[in-house]
Amino acid sequence: MGAEQADRPLDFVRRILHEHLATDRFGGRVHTRFPPEPNGYLHIGHAKAMLLNHGLAREFCGKFNLRFDDTNPIKEEQEYIDAIREDVAWLGCDWGEREFYASDYFEQLYAWAVQLIRDGKAYVDSLSAAEISEYRGTAIQPGERIETKIGRESPYRERSIPENLDLFERMRRGEFEDGAHVLRAKVDMAHPNLNLRDPVMYRILHATHPRTGDAWCIYPTYDWAHGQSDSIEGITHSICTLEFENHRPLYDWYLEQLGIHHPQQIEFARLNLTYTVMSKRRLLLLVRDGLVGGWDDPRLPTLSGLRRRGFTPEAIRAFCKRIGVAKAESTIDVGLLEDAVREHLNRSAPRAMAVLRPLRLVIESFPPDRTEQVEIAVNPEDPAAGTRAVPLSRVVYIERDDFMEDPPKQFHRLAPGREVRLRGACLVTCTDVVRGASGEIVELRCRHDPASHGGDAPDGRKVKGTLHWVSAAHAVEAEVRLYDRLFVKEDPDDAAPGQDWLANLNAASLEVLTGCRLEPSLAAARAGARFQFERLGYFCVDKDSAPGRLVFNRTVPLRDTWAKIRQRTGG
Ligand code: ATP
Ligand code: MG
Repeated sequence: MGAEQADRPLDFVRRILHEHLATDRFGGRVHTRFPPEPNGYLHIGHAKAMLLNHGLAREFCGKFNLRFDDTNPIKEEQEYIDAIREDVAWLGCDWGEREFYASDYFEQLYAWAVQLIRDGKAYVDSLSAAEISEYRGTAIQPGERIETKIGRESPYRERSIPENLDLFERMRRGEFEDGAHVLRAKVDMAHPNLNLRDPVMYRILHATHPRTGDAWCIYPTYDWAHGQSDSIEGITHSICTLEFENHRPLYDWYLEQLGIHHPQQIEFARLNLTYTVMSKRRLLLLVRDGLVGGWDDPRLPTLSGLRRRGFTPEAIRAFCKRIGVAKAESTIDVGLLEDAVREHLNRSAPRAMAVLRPLRLVIESFPPDRTEQVEIAVNPEDPAAGTRAVPLSRVVYIERDDFMEDPPKQFHRLAPGREVRLRGACLVTCTDVVRGASGEIVELRCRHDPASHGGDAPDGRKVKGTLHWVSAAHAVEAEVRLYDRLFVKEDPDDAAPGQDWLANLNAASLEVLTGCRLEPSLAAARAGARFQFERLGYFCVDKDSAPGRLVFNRTVPLRDTWAKIRQRTGG
């Protein structure tokens, strides 16, 4: 992530803003916007963009707009608008009353287009889309894209102004079929920057728009709509990702021709994360083809997926702050995002004990009909959270992984003859291993030290291992979903010849455990509640839960020292 760290977070954008304030370029104002296109759900990359824009507005006592860039009715849906509003609010990027829609500017954009035609700076072209692309100097040959030095002018380029005005009006009235004509800006067909070779401003699309319905059958392109929308809203700094850098001359050209308020476009590097894909096109494909459970699948980098997985807005904000904003492309280790949520939940999540793969442990020295209430801290990081009572009885469940019959030395857990601590309760020594018909271990027997209240040895003898446990008689059952990375490769595009990114999908990215046993205090936990399951990681209640049928998602495991040792030693 080197390049991202080279600058302190935000510094290069801040410098530009300070310079504008010093030279009074925008009358001392800072006004930013976050402009999602409602053609999918927001992802963690969008979080970076919105936090940047919202944060700068706050820092410079400016304004922040949420603007839906809804200029392409074919891909846009109300469902996406609703989801985006929810996600932006969830991250705390408050926009108040400042919610806008590019589609509200269609009439103004049309008027400005007419103005450009009148000024001889726009014309109706009747070439086909393929011809326009070829004339522009981009020809798609099988397998390669060729760009020529200069483009060729369309035979329609010199249409008279009255003819252009007439055709454009009839385009709007719906007299022509999709693709019959487009409106193009008359810039320069020999310009080295392809974006300036007479870019398309309007195309005919007989499609129903989620907000304007059938009022329009011509729709503005991104380049024609975006800068003018910024201008209408009085935006001062139009911050976008690097792929728009070579659109900036066009952004500036339109605003100059119209002579209207002229924001400064500033580009920054988009966020890329290891082991994931971020483009909405790809996310949509995963959702549509049922390769994941929906836009809020906890394995996706969507904000709704991360939320369902148990991520907090605080963690996402801390992550974005840490990675900073730079001009150079880089890919961030997804581990950094996981660290951020670990850090926040370590401070904020109540602890609970849960046994994911239960193994019975009978404490033979414990009276059969007794239940003791053991007091355990709700969160050792937060003494104010107090303690909780956890019932202990003669039969408890421990984690299958916490027992080994013939363990190596570094394994500080239970083994025949070994003594460990049951967290917060007492010390137990394994005395016997009970096997089932096929030889598998079905139960362990042990005796406890009745003097070891709270798990402390009365004589101060050293007991290294501490296990989590749940009383069998009191436990609640639950389903627990363990998530792994969605792709097996750091870079999902790193695929074998003839294969694509989908070949790198991780077939084992979801493991569903049933029959997990949880401490009884969790019975009342509601969807969205987050916990640290001691020694395991952070988990949150999934929305699929119903009364008496709890489902938990693992947000992220704790750092597992034994797994690391095992990996290192190949054991
Ligand atoms: P995608 O490329 O994922 O389909 P997009 O850029 O088409 O996304 P928009 O809805 O147009 O999606 O994005 C809204 C804003 O979020 C834009 O300003 C865009 O630059 C920014 N943005 C999108 N993806 C990222 C990313 N990965 N990192 C940072 N900013 C991003
Ligand atoms: Mg976009």
